[in-house]
Amino acid sequence: MENRRLAAKAHRPKSHPAPNHAVVVGGGIAGLIAARDLQAAGFSVSIYEAAATWGGCVASHEVAGELLDAGAESFATRNTAVADLATELGLAEKIVEPNPAGASVWLPEGPVPLPRTGVLGIPSDLNAPEVRAALGASGVLRAALDAKMPATIGTTEAVSSVADLVRARMGKRVLERLVAPVVAGVHSADAELLDVDMVAPGLRAGIREHGSLAAAVAAQRAGGSKPGSAVAGLAGGMHTLVSALVADLKAAGVSMHAGHRIKAVYRGDTEIDETPAEKRYDGGAPSRWIVDWEHGTERGFDGAGLLVVATDGPTAVKLLGVELPQLLPFAPAPGPDVRLVTLVVDVPELDSAPRGTGVLVAPGVAGIKAKALTHATAKWAWLADATGPGTHVLRLSYGRAARNPADAVRLTPSSFREEDLVPTALADASALLGIEVTEADLLGSDVVRWTGALPFAAVGHQGKIAKVQALAGEVPGLVLAGGWISGNGLAAVVGGTRRAIRAAVDTARRV
Ligand SMILES: Cc1cc2nc3c(=O)[nH]c(=O)nc-3n(C[C@H](O)[C@H](O)[C@H](O)COP(=O)(O)OP(=O)(O)OC[C@H]3O[C@@H](n4cnc5c(N)ncnc54)[C@H](O)[C@@H]3O)c2cc1C
Repeated sequence: MENRRLAAKAHRPKSHPAPNHAVVVGGGIAGLIAARDLQAAGFSVSIYEAAATWGGCVASHEVAGELLDAGAESFATRNTAVADLATELGLAEKIVEPNPAGASVWLPEGPVPLPRTGVLGIPSDLNAPEVRAALGASGVLRAALDAKMPATIGTTEAVSSVADLVRARMGKRVLERLVAPVVAGVHSADAELLDVDMVAPGLRAGIREHGSLAAAVAAQRAGGSKPGSAVAGLAGGMHTLVSALVADLKAAGVSMHAGHRIKAVYRGDTEIDETPAEKRYDGGAPSRWIVDWEHGTERGFDGAGLLVVATDGPTAVKLLGVELPQLLPFAPAPGPDVRLVTLVVDVPELDSAPRGTGVLVAPGVAGIKAKALTHATAKWAWLADATGPGTHVLRLSYGRAARNPADAVRLTPSSFREEDLVPTALADASALLGIEVTEADLLGSDVVRWTGALPFAAVGHQGKIAKVQALAGEVPGLVLAGGWISGNGLAAVVGGTRRAIRAAVDTARRV
């Protein structure tokens, strides 16, 4: 302890930091944007990231000489948040739409095209040929009852899972054959477990407004910045957004500390002479926030009037629990473990893009372990241009949280041995694409482990977050940001973080 204090004192600024100094914990997209907007608003900013690289889930890796996205590879266009940010960073001309061919959904009897006018797989147009193909006549008839039933069904309960809402309004076939595969692909979780208000905000309100679930979905799709196209990407990959942000922050003079894990967060005065556990926020006079960092064997402190915690939810609550023990009961469950297997293969037959941009696998399909396959070179023209004809990038993802423990054992990646993942991905790719892809075709492969990175928005999550926000709002100079607060996905995280920072800046200006 004594050594730690001595080391810490060596790193402590001799004087109080300027009152407009801000510290950001977490250098994912939320933390980087928070740092940028605070610096632009006149704060001096330090940002600390535990990993050696910036961007969190918006990561890159090199496979067979290609620099590829290792996490997020697109963004939803239901709002303009990501496009606005990209434009501010000079990337407007890099915004690209995916191949309009769309994806397929793999049902127990085989593949059908995935309806393109849905939200989370919930169809807006029951007459669309893809919807009829996926549901069959009886499924369509049942789903059509949605338009006839009162708008109160599925909308009066305080909380609802995605599955309960879809089952009540459109029936089991829509849930199992369209929604479950999309939800598993996007959120790595069972639709039974996810809070619909968190993963599809505004949908239940839309039912009350427009009279049916299909009409609510149609209204959400029409409200996007680009009707008809649900996602967009960046030529070069989504990781280029992080490179541009990092370059921008460096140029603006933000003090950047990658490889610095924050070990403790608390409020203190001039000298740090108590252990964090002895300190509690008691509603007394505001003092500054202090963060303890660790970088290899080095230890140090930083202090600021404004603290942004932009880590994953379990870490944020753990760090803040010292000051705000009342947060601890609201700690979110850690996200599911996901494995992303990237294969770069030389298979000219794949030039025909046999399944469009990829395949989502319905739960219960025998013989296939992946939950989704993205045919990246079929989805993004810039990537096909970069790899050239005959060379293809396939991304297969494994693992989802399931309600039924038997399913979880079958579906979580811990049931796979790591060394089996590439052969498993080759077998799954061959089955899903209908074209043999073997080890001899491999130009390169990589397995990326995402452990708890996707926030797990279990039923009731939105209510928990409202309480967390209310508790955090009572403490001066504290902002919470990130996917667990705003909702999973770049559109939600970018928009939500910018709103939170604007509010904090307004408050700081009023004080
Ligand atoms: C495999 C994968 C694919 C995805 N694909 C898409 C997609 O295509 N489109 C889309 O919109 N979204 C996608 N997402 C979701 C999207 O990437 C996330 O919602 C978003 O990037 C979350 O950003 P964040 O800043 O909140 O969190 P994160 O990116 O998780 O960043 C949090 C950061 O905090 C750091 N940290 C944690 N603890 C500490 C500590 N004690 N001290 C310092 N730093 C700490 C972490 O290292 C991390 O870098 C995907 C996610 C994954 C995992």
